Amino acid sequence: MTETDVPEDHPRYASLVTRHRIEAGVDAGITSRQGLIAQGRGEAFDYLLGERTLPSADAAERAAAARLLLADHPVISVNGNVAALVPEETVALAEAVDADLEVNLFNRTEERMKAIADHLREHGAESVKGLTGDGEIPGLDHARGIVDADGIGAADVVVVPLEDGDRAEALAAAGKTEIVIDLNPGSRSPRAAAIPIIDNVIRAVPSVTAHARDLANASPAELRSIVDSFDPEAALSAAEAAIREGEFGTDE
Ligand code: ATP
Repeated sequence: MTETDVPEDHPRYASLVTRHRIEAGVDAGITSRQGLIAQGRGEAFDYLLGERTLPSADAAERAAAARLLLADHPVISVNGNVAALVPEETVALAEAVDADLEVNLFNRTEERMKAIADHLREHGAESVKGLTGDGEIPGLDHARGIVDADGIGAADVVVVPLEDGDRAEALAAAGKTEIVIDLNPGSRSPRAAAIPIIDNVIRAVPSVTAHARDLANASPAELRSIVDSFDPEAALSAAEAAIREGEFGTDE
């Protein structure tokens, strides 16, 4: 069954489309096999969250948009799952907030780096960083810490969807303001973030872009007040409460 064969009224439409995109990503050499496992974990949490954007996640998405618009040098980190799931949407977000795109892989191979960069260009990206690899995030094994010196290395704000906990903590320790998108509120990555977005990248990335467009003419003071009134602890607690109290999915 291909993505277009999934009937849109299927109760698990979004999750089936997501699976197909990840499978296609693996076939195209974009997504790693570990990416399949990460996808499975994400899908379980999305089910527990009711496969919807919580009001607290929408508030985080608005705060993320405001923070990105205030940034001097924002960078969006792209891994194999993000490239397979939301290539066009990620390029659109980069344009909306004037951010760089940087391919950054947990299991870095030059082949996969290039396949992802090409895939992003096919979806409209003009420039993609990550292949130079002349910078390093301190506190990580060499291979895990490689970044572009003029990309994530020089960024003040980094968007890291589906990031591994060690790297999220190391980026925060390196002084980066992190915006993490992750469906598991208990994972270390969102806990290391200034702005944790507990939502599926499929919903979160277009939502941050929509908020950024809405805030395009806001003053720096307005943007600052949106960022300052966002409480990361409260956002994590709201997602945990939704999981505890939820109706667990939509196909009951
Ligand atoms: P950590 O190392 O941060 O404690 P982890 O070991 O769970 O966490 P990984 O397995 O490296 O992390 O990454 C998978 C993470 O990505 C999971 O937390 C999962 O919920 C999240 N994830 C997977 N798919 C998506 C998606 N489509 N949208 C958002 N998050 C996702």
